[in-house]
Order: sequence, then structure tokens, then C-alpha cells
Amino acid sequence: MKISWPHMGSLEFVMGSVFEEMGVDYVLPPPNSQRTLELGARHGPEFACFPLKTTLGNFIEAIEKGADTLIMVAGRGPCRFGYYAETQRRILEEAGYDFRMVPLEFEPAKIPATLRRLHDLKQGRSWLSLYRAIKFALNKAYLIDRLERQALHQRYLDREKGATTAALKRCYALVWDAGSYAALDGIEEEAFAIMHSVPRVEREEVKIGIVGEFYLVLEPFFNLNVEEQLGNLGAYVERNIYLTDWLRPSGERPVLGHREHASELLAMAYLTHKVGGEGIFSVGDTVLFHNQGFDGVVQLMPFTCMPETIAKSILPLVSRDLGIPVLSVVIDEMTGRAGVATRLEAFTDLARFRRRAHGREADLTLQPAF
Ligand code: SF4
Repeated sequence: MKISWPHMGSLEFVMGSVFEEMGVDYVLPPPNSQRTLELGARHGPEFACFPLKTTLGNFIEAIEKGADTLIMVAGRGPCRFGYYAETQRRILEEAGYDFRMVPLEFEPAKIPATLRRLHDLKQGRSWLSLYRAIKFALNKAYLIDRLERQALHQRYLDREKGATTAALKRCYALVWDAGSYAALDGIEEEAFAIMHSVPRVEREEVKIGIVGEFYLVLEPFFNLNVEEQLGNLGAYVERNIYLTDWLRPSGERPVLGHREHASELLAMAYLTHKVGGEGIFSVGDTVLFHNQGFDGVVQLMPFTCMPETIAKSILPLVSRDLGIPVLSVVIDEMTGRAGVATRLEAFTDLARFRRRAHGREADLTLQPAF
């Protein structure tokens, strides 16, 4: 059995670490690329969500590398994410690929089936070793999240463009190689020292928050490296979700330091119930970013995403009420990098003018304002 899964930001650190620890064979799909996108768009339905196509491309490339068992999180509405596994299974079977799809569902009624599937995946290893492997992998993911957050906060001060990104890549390699808690502890100190050693210059600050559909927020290749672009344009950046925040079923966001519920309360003036995906958080976290002194918010939205379409229709009202600029960026396989770059540049300038006009001092903490 050769297991694989789709890319999503630093998810490969979690999954790769779990299977390494367990000694279970796995295949890492090739890095996301234009080919990944073309494969997914060719085989996926035209009006399917963009992430369904990109992750379909990952699966095809993983099968080409020898994977025969594909893992996908599944569930049910109101958003279409829950149906990806079944849709992709049918598409890949019709295309003639030989594989087994393993949907992992975490609703209470589906837990017994999920446990049976996990039992197959661990191939005779004990439940205790699986638990330990997952716990260790989450520790790695938490460290990666904090390093990525550090990169978002410092990139705009780089003396040489790309220096923070290069430092972050060195840190990724260190974390990937860590094989024990003791090693991970040592690496934490070393990794933050690497990040802090990047030469900086003084720069006028402008603060931009990122909200949107979780896959697009977390996956840099397909969001056209929006965080890096904003950092290189001189923006201190924060995103409203990190991988370990998303993996927590409890609604805690350990990296950002507040609970999802706080965001839902802030959205309440505009949206009183969940609409699937991160729709309500895109609204609530825009209010949150405003309360924390940010100068603008970028919403990332896959083409045809239902929850983000709802949020997009509400955000102009939030923007008008609070006086904070909001830029909605809709991404699909037709989106041009140059067009997005131009819009981000104009938006960063707008946010900078706003900061100057308001004459506010920067608040570099991201603690909830409630
Ligand atoms: S959140 Fe949006 S893009 Fe993601 S699966 Fe749901 S509808 Fe599709």
C-alpha cells in the first residue's frame, strides 16, 4: 500500500511525519505546479470548486508516482468540501486510474467507519503508535505555523527581497528532519534564530490581514503567493487561519490566540449564522482586523465558492461601516498572476494612504480586541 494525500500549505509536514514515524510507505505528490492545475482542470467539472481541481491534479500526479491509496477528508454540507472525496473517486475511476480512495469523516455517526479505515492505513501498527505519531506531527505543524507567522510579520522589513522566504525554507528543512521531541526543541531555538538573523531596514508600516477560504489562504502556490507579494510590497501581513488552527476541532486557534466563536460574535451584525466553509469567519475576522488597527483586508476566494461568495457580498458593507478597505481576489485556473500583482500593489498603496491619513501608530500585537 502506497498512501498519498493532496498538498495544502504545510500539511505535508503533518502527514509525512505521521507516516515516517509509523514506518508506513507513502508518496508525496510532486510540488504544486502549472501541470497540477492543468491536470485537475482537464479532468474536473468546469464549475467545480477550484480546490477540487487542484487536489485532483495532486492525486493524478501521486498515482503517476506510484500511489495506490488516496486520503481525503470528507463529510457533508452545507459546503461542497465534504463531497470532494466521492466526486474525485468517480472522476479518477472514469479516467481509468487504479487506486483506492479513503475518505476520512469526523461526524459522530461516521467515526466507526473512519476508525476502520485508519486501522487499514496503519497496517498492523498499534493505535498507540498512531496516536504518538499524530501528536508529534502536530507539534511540528505548530512550530511551522509560528515560523510562518514570524515570516509574515517581518518580511516587509527585509533588506534584500526574498531573504525571509529563504530563511523560512531553511527552517522547513530543519523541522522536516527532526525525529524526536528533543530534536524539535533544539530546532525551535535554531529556527527562530535563523528568522531573526535576516538583515532588516526601517520601513513605514502598513498592516494587511488575509481572510478567505481555508485552502486558498493556506496554499501559497495556488493563492499566487499573495502573502509574499504583500510582504514584498512593504506590508506587515497576518492571516486569519493557520494549519493547526484549522486542524483543531475544538474551535480554538492556538496560533492566533483566540477562539472561532469570538469571530462569529463579531460577524453577528452582518451575518447571523454559519454559511459553510469560512464564510462567517471572513466577515468576523475582517471586523477583528479592523479592531486591531489593520489598514486593509484581502479576501481570497476560489471561483464558485458558495460561502465566500456570501461573504464577498457582505464585505462592502463592513468596509463602508468601518472605513477599512477590502479587496476580494477570486482565483481559478484562468487567473493571471500579473493582474493580481497589479491589484495587490494598488491596494497596498491605498491602505498606506489610509494609514497616513489616520495617522495611527502601529499595533504590532494580534490579540483579540474583546
Ligand atoms: S469552501 Fe468554497 S471552495 Fe471550499 S469546498 Fe466549500 S464551496 Fe468549495
